Amino acid sequence: MRICDPHIHMVSRVTDDYERMAVAGIEMVVEPSFWLGEPRKHVGTFLDYFDSLVHFERERAARYGIRHYCTISVNPREANNAKLAREVLKKMVPYLKDPSVVAVGEIGFDDITSPEEKIYIEQLEIAAHHKLPVLIHTPHKRKYEGTKRNIDILKKMKYDCRKVLVDHNTEETIEISLASGAWCGHTVYPVTKLSPERAATILLTHGVERMMINSSADWGPSDCLSVPKTLLELKRQGMSRRDLERLAWDNPVSFYAQSGKVAEAGKGRRQERVGES
Ligand SMILES: [Zn+2]
Repeated sequence: MRICDPHIHMVSRVTDDYERMAVAGIEMVVEPSFWLGEPRKHVGTFLDYFDSLVHFERERAARYGIRHYCTISVNPREANNAKLAREVLKKMVPYLKDPSVVAVGEIGFDDITSPEEKIYIEQLEIAAHHKLPVLIHTPHKRKYEGTKRNIDILKKMKYDCRKVLVDHNTEETIEISLASGAWCGHTVYPVTKLSPERAATILLTHGVERMMINSSADWGPSDCLSVPKTLLELKRQGMSRRDLERLAWDNPVSFYAQSGKVAEAGKGRRQERVGES
């Protein structure tokens, strides 16, 4: 089975992880731009980071037969430095035209503040203008409140939710996220997010339409193999092969293919060459 991890921060991972992921069947990853742990103080450090996503990571992944795409944005946490965030927004536009950039993200709420809301709305507008999908981060704390506020803003803007992926869903948020018409991500991550068993229960209860699973593996204690491990758990619990394939590959590829930059690679096109786009 071909596997895509639609949310993983490879910049924080060693090259050995690419090898382990390739051996486990991962053939495509999407790396959202995010907060690196130390708040950035300069526009240039954002730009150097974006460059490493579109160049270096892409090449590192290709050596293991993994297609690497990324999403570009000012992340919710750093949106609180409004002056710097706005300067980055101006400078990030050329990156959106790069063939490896398949969405604007991750955007949304961290502390659920009004500067975060302003930068979130501006980036939704930028994505719509550039005809790109968006990846929405939902907060770790006050998750239901943050998710609802994300979705209420989309509704108010009459945003096309077919081009929206609301990520880091849990049992608490999945119903409102699905009802919005957006695609729904589930992060399988030790300690703070879902276990493979909890994710499996959500997916077996709600089905796989518009659903995705990801590792969000980063610099914290995390697992770059949590997508294959969750697929194994779902298989153990009796999910059909067709549904497993939709979760593992068809759904993430279809979502990001709305950028026009990902070759559709569903059933019957298995001969597609890795690294071609
Ligand atoms: Zn992330």
